[in-house]
Amino acid sequence: MSKPHHKSSRWIILAWSLNGLGLIVLLFVLALYWTRPPSRAAAAPFVDSQGTPYPTLTPAPTIYYLPTITPNPRSTQIVETTATPFYLANGPKPSVIGFSVSGRPIEVYTFGQGEQQRMIVAGIHGGYEWNTIALADQLITYINQHPEVIPSNITLYILRDLNPDGDARSHDEYGRVNAHGVDLNRNFPINWSAVWDRGGCYDHTPTTGGTGPASEPETRIMMNFLNTHKVEALISYHSAALGIFPGGTPWDPASKKLAQEIAGVSSYPYPPINTGCIYTGTLADYAVSVGAAAVDMELTNHQDTDFSMNLRVLDVLVNFTK
Ligand SMILES: [Zn+2]
Repeated sequence: MSKPHHKSSRWIILAWSLNGLGLIVLLFVLALYWTRPPSRAAAAPFVDSQGTPYPTLTPAPTIYYLPTITPNPRSTQIVETTATPFYLANGPKPSVIGFSVSGRPIEVYTFGQGEQQRMIVAGIHGGYEWNTIALADQLITYINQHPEVIPSNITLYILRDLNPDGDARSHDEYGRVNAHGVDLNRNFPINWSAVWDRGGCYDHTPTTGGTGPASEPETRIMMNFLNTHKVEALISYHSAALGIFPGGTPWDPASKKLAQEIAGVSSYPYPPINTGCIYTGTLADYAVSVGAAAVDMELTNHQDTDFSMNLRVLDVLVNFTK
């Protein structure tokens, strides 16, 4: 009987030994866990071998240039500052004909119901030429109070601010280009060039004609308007001082006639002052290419609207015949 007893006690000792070994391994694992160094996620900045912390890595913002996308007008718009506000209390509401790069509306006021169509465009150079927008707003207010200045055979469109993003950015040279840094009056698909010889041209801040002809939404909105309306005469207001530039290369005869008639009622120089600049991709050249008489025209300075003089110019525009 003693032999089997002896044999079974050996098995018991072995089992307890295994239990003890398992317990030691378990304690060893727990000890390793408790004494481990703090995890890296909780640690302060990474340091190099000299103990100097690595600079914090901030990912560069991803910039997408998607010129063919028209922002959804019901989406949340990113508006950093406010473009020159204008409200006509008792009068026609403007048509929104599209949206700028940053989602600001581009508005057209319409006066009269005649068959012959005329157009005034202001603010193509944004905040740098903000007084052209101020003039457009004065004209809108005046015509609304004096509708008789529009002959019965005429419809007049006033696009008060073609570059609202530039207008919102600043009322100085930095407000000239749109939100892609493009000079909109170099972006039209006629004699287009991305860059040009700056001799005699505006050269105070960096600017480009765009990534291609009509790469900018503001440009395409303007083109679409001209292609869906029969505008026969157009003034694109600028500032300052150089005078009246007829559209077309060489100057279109009907546009020269319009420039001469405007010069007859104003002090704006015609022929304009020749600085030697070769103008590419302009709105006036595009308007001529689709059948309008058109001028680029500069106010006297960067502050005044020359309002009474431009009422006479308005009279010329609405009574103009090629
Ligand atoms: Zn200009």
